[in-house]
Amino acid sequence: MPATRLLPGSEAEDLLKLTRELCEKELLPRAARAEREESFPREVFTLLGRAGLLSLPYPEEFGGGGQPYEIYLQVLEEIGSAWASVGVGVSVHALSCFPLFAFGTDAQRRRWLPGMLSGEQLGAYCLSEAHAGSDPAAMRARAVRDGDSYVLNGAKAWTTHGGRADFYTVMARTSDDGSRGISCFYVPADTPGLEFDKPEEKMGLTGSTTATVRLENVRIPADHLIGAEGQGLAIALAGLDAGRLGIAAVATGLAQSALDHAVAYAKEREAFGKAIIDHQGLGFLLADMAVAVDTARAAYLSAARFKDAGRPYGREASVAKLVATDNAMKVTTDAVQVLGGAGYTRDFPVERFMREAKVMQIFEGTNQIQRLVISRHLAR
Ligand SMILES: Cc1cc2nc3c(=O)[nH]c(=O)nc-3n(C[C@H](O)[C@H](O)[C@H](O)COP(=O)(O)OP(=O)(O)OC[C@H]3O[C@@H](n4cnc5c(N)ncnc54)[C@H](O)[C@@H]3O)c2cc1C
Repeated sequence: MPATRLLPGSEAEDLLKLTRELCEKELLPRAARAEREESFPREVFTLLGRAGLLSLPYPEEFGGGGQPYEIYLQVLEEIGSAWASVGVGVSVHALSCFPLFAFGTDAQRRRWLPGMLSGEQLGAYCLSEAHAGSDPAAMRARAVRDGDSYVLNGAKAWTTHGGRADFYTVMARTSDDGSRGISCFYVPADTPGLEFDKPEEKMGLTGSTTATVRLENVRIPADHLIGAEGQGLAIALAGLDAGRLGIAAVATGLAQSALDHAVAYAKEREAFGKAIIDHQGLGFLLADMAVAVDTARAAYLSAARFKDAGRPYGREASVAKLVATDNAMKVTTDAVQVLGGAGYTRDFPVERFMREAKVMQIFEGTNQIQRLVISRHLAR
């Protein structure tokens, strides 16, 4: 059952309707099989791109959809409710475009943004390294200036779309000056020296490719630097504020889907002579799940309104990411409980939802790191 939404007008209603139709026709029928076979659905991203759904939060003058975050995130929630791997991919693509959009020069934006937002390209965002996840300032990948070029060396771990993307937004060290020694680069996928490890074998989100990207003497023109030298970590963290809202929306969609499956099952399944939803112990469990989904949605919408108003929203984005992903973990786990033994089998999607929810508490800053961000705001 689609979530009840208060949308600002008929344009947004049409956009959400189009998204739901695409999800029902193109995403839902493919999701379970692709996840089981661990195959990356590149063609689904092409479909979404052609429908304009890969570039919604960016301005129309560069080929984007010109949508406020409040609307973009609700579209993303719908995509996440149909297929979490694809929702995460759409969010990561938006994240990988952010540095160029927000910190690039006019010339760089005119040159690369239309391609990135055309719907044909898919991006990746390379911040983490094997020893530098929660603490990206500990990164070691290097970019050394050599005449009119930079030469990049190192390994970026955990890259969503690693080996599948058309461009990589890469953070690398240009000096030893700690968090101020990192810079941001635009690296097209066909640049010689980009190599990819075998994808990670994950617990869930298996339709989304995650791989280490190796930079072996990757030479790029000096004008592929985004922002100033040394500004890279600030750029990366600004991007993550927006990215965390994307993950919050996908997690909300995933939880909504788990709730919908649980309610449908609980209305059909009988025990002790009546539908299990009519046993108060189970009805209350379902009520708590609904509360968790509504709360997650309210949290990301609230943060989105701050962002759309041009106000600081880093704290609100961390609250939304924390609430939505912790709630998704709880709701998906409880959905397995509602289905009983059936929930533990692959005949129903709720066990997959539970595995998919887990990673959302981990990436784009673990939920411990979200608490760190929130507590630092409180300590100011
Ligand atoms: C499927 C997947 C996709 C990903 N995609 C990308 C991507 O596209 N791009 C990218 O750059 N990265 C990506 N990541 C990496 C992800 O962002 C990191 O895994 C995450 O930031 C955590 O880093 P870590 O794994 O090194 O854990 P660690 O930093 O080693 O943390 C281990 C544990 O210690 C806790 N911890 C660490 N520091 C503190 C602290 N100060 N206080 C309290 N607890 C703390 C953490 O919360 C965690 O529980 C992805 C990861 C996964 C699993």
